[in-house]
Amino acid sequence: FLFSSTSEIQIQTAVFRSEKMEKICVAVRVRPPTPESSPENGSSLWKVEDNRISLYKSLDTPISTSSHAFDHVFDESSTNAEVYELLTKDIIHAAVEGFNGTAFAYGQTSSGKTFTMTGSETDPGIIRRSVRDVFEKIQMISDREFLIRVSYMEIYNEEINDLLAVENQRLQIHEHLERGVFVAGLKEEIVSDAEQILKLINSGEGNRHFGETNMNVHSSRSHTIFRMVIESRGKENNSSDAIRVSVLNLVDLAGSERIAKTGAGGVRLTEGKYINKSLMILGNVINKLSESAKLRAHIPYRDSKLTRILQPALGGNAKTCIICTIAPEEYHIEESKGTLQFASRAKRITNCAQVNEILTDAALLKRQKLEIEELRMKLEGSHAEVLEQEILKLSNQMLKYELECERLKTQLEDERRKQKKQEQCIKEQQSKIDNLNNLVTNSDFKKNQSEDSISVRKTPNGLCNANESSDAPGTPCFKSASHSFVVARSNYSLSEFSPMVDSLGDVADEDTWTKLNKGFVADLDKLQFTPAIKRQTTPLTMAAMDCSRESYKEVEDLKSQIELLTNEKDSLQVKFNEQVVMNNKLMEEMSALKQETLPMKEIPKRLSDSVANCNNVFSDVVVTMKSLMAEKESPTATLLFGTTEITRSLLSALETQFSMIMDGQKAGTVDHSDQWETLGVSLKNTTTSLLSDARAKDEFLNSHNKGQETADLEEKLKSELSTVKERYSELEKELCLDKQLLEASRESHERLEKEVEFLKEKRESLDVEISKATRRLRATANEKENVLKDLNVEVKRRKEMEEEIKQISFAFASRQKSLVSFHNEIKSKMQKLTTQNPKS
Ligand code: ADP
Ligand code: MG
Repeated sequence: FLFSSTSEIQIQTAVFRSEKMEKICVAVRVRPPTPESSPENGSSLWKVEDNRISLYKSLDTPISTSSHAFDHVFDESSTNAEVYELLTKDIIHAAVEGFNGTAFAYGQTSSGKTFTMTGSETDPGIIRRSVRDVFEKIQMISDREFLIRVSYMEIYNEEINDLLAVENQRLQIHEHLERGVFVAGLKEEIVSDAEQILKLINSGEGNRHFGETNMNVHSSRSHTIFRMVIESRGKENNSSDAIRVSVLNLVDLAGSERIAKTGAGGVRLTEGKYINKSLMILGNVINKLSESAKLRAHIPYRDSKLTRILQPALGGNAKTCIICTIAPEEYHIEESKGTLQFASRAKRITNCAQVNEILTDAALLKRQKLEIEELRMKLEGSHAEVLEQEILKLSNQMLKYELECERLKTQLEDERRKQKKQEQCIKEQQSKIDNLNNLVTNSDFKKNQSEDSISVRKTPNGLCNANESSDAPGTPCFKSASHSFVVARSNYSLSEFSPMVDSLGDVADEDTWTKLNKGFVADLDKLQFTPAIKRQTTPLTMAAMDCSRESYKEVEDLKSQIELLTNEKDSLQVKFNEQVVMNNKLMEEMSALKQETLPMKEIPKRLSDSVANCNNVFSDVVVTMKSLMAEKESPTATLLFGTTEITRSLLSALETQFSMIMDGQKAGTVDHSDQWETLGVSLKNTTTSLLSDARAKDEFLNSHNKGQETADLEEKLKSELSTVKERYSELEKELCLDKQLLEASRESHERLEKEVEFLKEKRESLDVEISKATRRLRATANEKENVLKDLNVEVKRRKEMEEEIKQISFAFASRQKSLVSFHNEIKSKMQKLTTQNPKS
C-alpha cells in the first residue's frame, strides 16, 4: 500500500454508500458467423430478442428448453462499445470509487472471448475501454488523488506466469492478513496514464506469444488476468483520511469446450489430456454458489489458482459481470448450450460489494477517539446515573439482608438455648423415671426376699431367686437400689407425678396380675428394661410439655402474624392495582391533552404567517399607490410615506412578537405582558399619528380642494388602512385567546405531570413495601415451618413418652397391688401366728 506506509495498517471495509446484496450481472454475446461457415449453418440457429436468447430449429420453432433470459443479450451485430457501455461501465466506475470489480469472458474457443476483452484496432475491447475510462473518471474527481498499479498474468496448466516480466514464472499465491490473497513476485507497474497501460498490455501479449509454437492451443488452455489496483485518498492532505483500495480484474478465460474437441482438431498434445483444472473448479464454484445459501456447503475456492485469485469476485466483496460468448455455428451447438447453462447458474450468485477502506494509524486513532468520546458521553449521561442508583439500591438491599441474617442468627441461638433447656428437663425426667424403676424393682426384691424367708410354696420353680443367685441373667442387681430409691424419693412428691400407692386402684388387669403373681420375671424384666432402652431416645417430662406448649403458643403467634401480613399485603396489592389503573388513566389523559396542545402550539406560527401576508399585501398596496402618485412632493405622498413607515414598523414589531412567542414556547415560560404593553402603546401611537395625519390631509384637501382624483386616492388609502387596522385588531384578539388557551393547557399539563410524578413515587414506595412484606412473610413462613417441625418432633416424643409412662404406671400399679396384697397376706399370717403362739 503505497499511500499508507505507516507502520501498522488496518484494513476495514467500511460502507459509505448503501451496502446491499447484488446478483452477478450476466450477459451473452453471439459472435457473427465466420466467413468460411456455410450460410445454412449461420445465424438462423440462435435468435436474440431483447434480453432473451432462444435456439431455433430450421423450421423456425423455438425449442422451449433452450430459451434463456439474461441481464443483456448481445447479437452478432453488437460492438464492443455497446458491451462495455451496458455491461462493464458501472463496474469500472465503482472501482474508481473503491469497490472491487471483475469482468469475465467465458465461452468455448473461438467464440469471441478475446475479441470481447481485448478487441481489435477499430473496436477496442473491454480492457482498453476500461483503462481509458478509469483515467477519464479520475480526471473528473478533483478532490481525491489516485495511484494506479497494473499487473498482467496468465494461468496455464495451474502455473501462474507474469506477462509483464517473462522471468517471473510459476509464481505462488500467498495469503496475508491485510492484503488478502496475492500473487507473490508479480510485477506491479505504477502507471500515470492510459497509454502507458496500453503499451504494457501490448508487450504482455508479446510475452504470451513467446516460446509458443501453437498460440491457439495455448490460449485456449490458459486464463489471462489483467489487474488494476486503484488507490485513492482525499486531497486535503488530511492524514486522518482513510485510503480506499479497490482491485479490478479483467479476465479472459480458457476455452470451455471439451478438450477432446480441440484434440480432434488435429493437435493431440500430451498436455491435451490435461483437463483445464481451473475451469473445472470454476464451474464447481459457480454451481455451489448458485445453490441457495442454506444448501451451500464448502465452496472449493482453494482447489484452483484461478478461483483462489478470483474468490472476492465470486460470492464475495466485488461487483462482478460475466460475459458468455457463444459461436452461432451448428456444430458448436452443444458447447453453446453448455455455456448458456453456465451463464444461467452464474446469474443466481449474489455478491456483496463494499468500499474497501484502509485506515492509517491516524485515521484509526481518530475513529477510536470518537468512539471513546461517544462511550464516555453515554457513561456520563443518564445511563450512569441509573447505574449508580442501581448500585445504591443493591447495597441497601444487601445491608437489609445482612441485618435480617443477624436477626435470624440470634433467633437460632435462642432456639438452641431452648432446646438445651428442654434436654435438661428431659434428663431430670429421666432420673425420675429411673427412681421409679428402682422403686418398682426394690419392691419386687423385697417381695422375693420375704417369700424366701417365709418359704412359701408359691415360689416358682426354676425362676429367679434373688438370694440364691443375684447375678442370674435377666435379673437386675438390687443391692444398691434401696439407696437410690430413698434418695430419689426425697426429691419429689409422688402426688405430683404418679398416683400414691394407696390411691392406686385396680389398675392392672387380671391377666397381668396373675402373671405378676406367678412370678413371670421375664415380663418384669421387660417392663424394667424397655423404658430403660427407650429412655435415651424418648424423654418427655412436664417441662418438655411446657416447652411444647410454649411452641404451640409461638406457632399460634406466628400464624396470626402471617395472617396479618398476608392481609396487609393483599390490601397493598389492591391499592397498588388501583394506583396502576389510575396511573394509566392519567397517562391517557395526559397524552390526549398533549395531542390537544399540539395544534395550539401551531397558532403563533400561523399568526406570524398571516402577519407576513399582511405585510406583503401592504407592500403591494404601497407599490400601487406609489405608482398612482404623480408627484412625490405632494402632501399625499408625504402622508403615504409616513403611513408606510409606521405600518412597516408595526408589522415588524408584530412579527418579532410572534417569533418571540414561538421561541418562548420552546424555551418554556416567558412573560410577554411587557412586550404586549409596548406593542399596544406603539399601536396607539401609530393610530393617533395616522389619524392626525389623515386629519391634516383632510384640511389640506379642503383648503386646496384638489380634484376628484386625489380624493379617490385618499379614500382608497383610508379603506386600505382601515382593513389593515381591522386585521391587526383581529390578530390581536386571536393572539390573546391563544395565549390564554396556551397558558391553561400548560398549567394543566404541569399539574398532570406533577400528579404523575406523585403517583410514580407512591407506586415505588408501594413496591418497596410490598417487597418488604413479602420478604417478611417468607421469613416468617420459614420460621413457622421450622417451629412446626420441632413441634411435631416434640409431640411425637411426648406421645411416645406418655405411652411409656402409661406402661410404667401400669406396671407400677400392678406391683403396688401385689405389694399391698402381699402385706395383707403377711399381716394375716402374723396375726395367725400371734394367735397360735400368744407367748411369742
Ligand atoms: P476466443 O478468444 O473465444 O477463442 P476470439 O476472440 O479469438 O475467440 O475469436 C475468434 C475469431 O472470431 C477471431 O478472429 C475474432 O476476430 C472473431 N470474432 C469474435 N467475436 C467477434 C465479433 N463479435 N465480431 C466480429 N468478429 C468476431
Ligand atoms: Mg481467446
